[in-house]
Amino acid sequence: MATERTLSIIKPDATRRNLTGQINARFEAKGLRIVAQKRLQLTKAQAEGFYAVHSERPFFNDLVAFMISGPVVVQVLEGENAVAANREIMGATNPANAAEGTIRKDFAESIEANSVHGSDSAENAAIEIAYFFAQTEIVG
Ligand code: UDP
Repeated sequence: MATERTLSIIKPDATRRNLTGQINARFEAKGLRIVAQKRLQLTKAQAEGFYAVHSERPFFNDLVAFMISGPVVVQVLEGENAVAANREIMGATNPANAAEGTIRKDFAESIEANSVHGSDSAENAAIEIAYFFAQTEIVG
């Protein structure tokens, strides 16, 4: 087991419904520590850059519009196997397929407005963390 960091985003559907604290409580209850956090209104360019890997997908334009439709909370979570642990806490992309007790099962509105983002690998986590945070903003 290794201590890892992963990037999490609480998406606009969740900030709109004032769910930031409830979502953070789930991370903390499962042993993930919030070692950096800020609330941002993403620009279109920031959202497009973050999701650049999906730029050819049919849902890309809608996804970018959704991600700038309200504030997000970007955060760094730290803990044992944090990348995989967070993916388990989040649940499947489509809330219809998400397991009981996961954030997406309990809170997501749709496959697009699915309340949270979490890095899918340690390699991507490092890239995504650097996209939003300076090293000095992360306090472990
Ligand atoms: N998404 C969407 N429609 C789809 C698939 C994905 O709007 O058919 C959105 C959704 O918000 C998802 C994000 O694009 O969280 C990134 O998709 P990915 O497959 O990377 O899922 P994730 O890693 O977030 O579970």
